[in-house]
Amino acid sequence: MDEDTILGANEAHDEIDVEGLDEVRHAVRLVNVSRTYVLGKRKIDAVRSVNLEVGMGDYIVISGHSGSGKTTLLNIIGAIDSVTEGRIHVMDVPIEDYDESFRATFRLQNTGYMFQSYNLISTLTAIENVMFPMQLTPKSIPELNAEARSLLEMVDMKDRLDHLPWQLSSGEQQRVALARAMANDPPIILADEPTANLDEASAEMVRTILHNLNNKGKAVIVMTHDETIFSMSGVRRFRMLKGELLSDV
Ligand code: ADP
Ligand code: MG
Repeated sequence: MDEDTILGANEAHDEIDVEGLDEVRHAVRLVNVSRTYVLGKRKIDAVRSVNLEVGMGDYIVISGHSGSGKTTLLNIIGAIDSVTEGRIHVMDVPIEDYDESFRATFRLQNTGYMFQSYNLISTLTAIENVMFPMQLTPKSIPELNAEARSLLEMVDMKDRLDHLPWQLSSGEQQRVALARAMANDPPIILADEPTANLDEASAEMVRTILHNLNNKGKAVIVMTHDETIFSMSGVRRFRMLKGELLSDV
């Protein structure tokens, strides 16, 4: 991309207004998006010419074998990774046109991301992990603390506020990760195999909360092998196969 077309964070802030959620046409819009990784002489086409339109309030579920490109696609949508070709709009904003500083702020405000491996910060307690994405808000620490506490209550972790990640089971870590994804009340929730390796009670809680977030109007995109999520009514189902996104059933 031409350097001149990359906007700085401040300039970008002046132009961007995603406040009016009713006016947002697409939570996510991908046009011919491809991502190729180059490893030495080897090229890996992780995502190939993907087209997808996700409306506010849509629930998208994508399954696919390991290595089919699910995580790569979710990272692109979450502005963590960049496209090699194609166009991507998130909340109608062409995020590829902006610099990393803008993209970092944009993802904190617009996307809650549940990583496959939880990715909690190991030196921070549960409540500190949930407060971490809130640091850009002008609210006071006690206000943020109260918000984080109520998010952890929602995932039934209010008795574990001061525990470090290694002191928590995988189900508990994923529940903290879900609370963190809800911090800043983002309009889009992205989840990478959120119920894999969880005990059934934690998995059911994660499914229910994702469903409730969608009922509240959030766009939810989940990569999963979880048949219970995949067969839920009201979801749009897709499959990834060798980097291509196929609409399913
Ligand atoms: P999935 O999540 O469906 O298992 P991934 O998106 O993780 O699939 O991977 C898709 C393909 O891209 C795989 O062949 C993987 O090895 C490759 N890949 C993913 N990330 C990278 C990377 N950072 N560098 C090189 N290859 C990668
Ligand atoms: Mg993956």
